[in-house]
Amino acid sequence: MLNVKNLSFSYSKSAVLKAISFNAKPGEYVAIIGESGSGKSTLLKLLYGTYDLNEGDIFWKNNPILGPKYNLVVGYDFMKYVAQEFDLMPFITVAENIGKFLSRFYPEEKEQRTAELLEVVELTPFANIKVKTLSGGQKQRVALARALAKQPEIILLDEPFSHIDNFQKQSLRRRIFNYLKEKNITCIVATHDKEDVLGFADRMIVLNDNEIAVNNSPKTLYKNPKTPLIAAFFGEFNFINGIIVYAHQLKVVDDSNIKVSVKQSYFKGHYYLVESNFKGETIFFQHHLELHEGHTVNLKIVK
Ligand code: ADP
Ligand code: MG
Repeated sequence: MLNVKNLSFSYSKSAVLKAISFNAKPGEYVAIIGESGSGKSTLLKLLYGTYDLNEGDIFWKNNPILGPKYNLVVGYDFMKYVAQEFDLMPFITVAENIGKFLSRFYPEEKEQRTAELLEVVELTPFANIKVKTLSGGQKQRVALARALAKQPEIILLDEPFSHIDNFQKQSLRRRIFNYLKEKNITCIVATHDKEDVLGFADRMIVLNDNEIAVNNSPKTLYKNPKTPLIAAFFGEFNFINGIIVYAHQLKVVDDSNIKVSVKQSYFKGHYYLVESNFKGETIFFQHHLELHEGHTVNLKIVK
């Protein structure tokens, strides 16, 4: 189990992370979310032992994760970390990069393992291409496969799909997260994309003001977002009579006490996101038809 106890850290004077405590069980996926600059990447680097903590402890099972002051070589065999900037060997092939840390004394196993990982990251046709010629998204996938090559017990991923285009993102996410679950690999992912979280993560930690604002299942937080920060992560929302209401929780009805005047409709595929005015406040709701400026409609909250 990953056990983070009362961790505090600062690069200089002001604290980046304060009193951070959480656990992650074997095979569990914990997502770290928060606005840009909230300390997600810093937290992952600390979990990897990149820096010395100001306070607190990190353990993986019985192993303390130590910073450079106490551990000359950063990193542990049981843990892998894929950073936002992935360092690959540009002049060798995709397959060679992935197999780089696999034993060359077992060439058949090495080849088989490399082939399996190429499948997971959907790069089989690129096996013999030199990494320097790949796109950013393809490089990111090579970095993921390489981190998985010597199966870690825990993997730390910093925005793992940020460079990957939308055509491939969905299927790649399913493959990677299903693979990690199947192999019982603990996974800590820093992300600001709800698609990385919903349907995959077991828990979601929200960083805000240098601290953990909440740590709960995505479903619980989605259904009852206690703060605008949490609601905003999941989608467009409104404050109506002091409660948070998602845009899709407002339905157009014949009559109600929420009479709004339409300002604009945005085409979103299977629905329109409609921006409207309610007593001087902006209210967003979803509707299956395009509504035009000046049109008055009645809205009902359907939770
Ligand atoms: P996130 O990944 O959530 O965007 P970061 O962990 O990268 O956030 O950054 C958290 C804070 O720490 C930011 O204020 C950032 O400017 C600062 N920071 C990040 N890396 C360094 C560094 N190497 N030296 C000094 N300050 C840093
Ligand atoms: Mg970051």
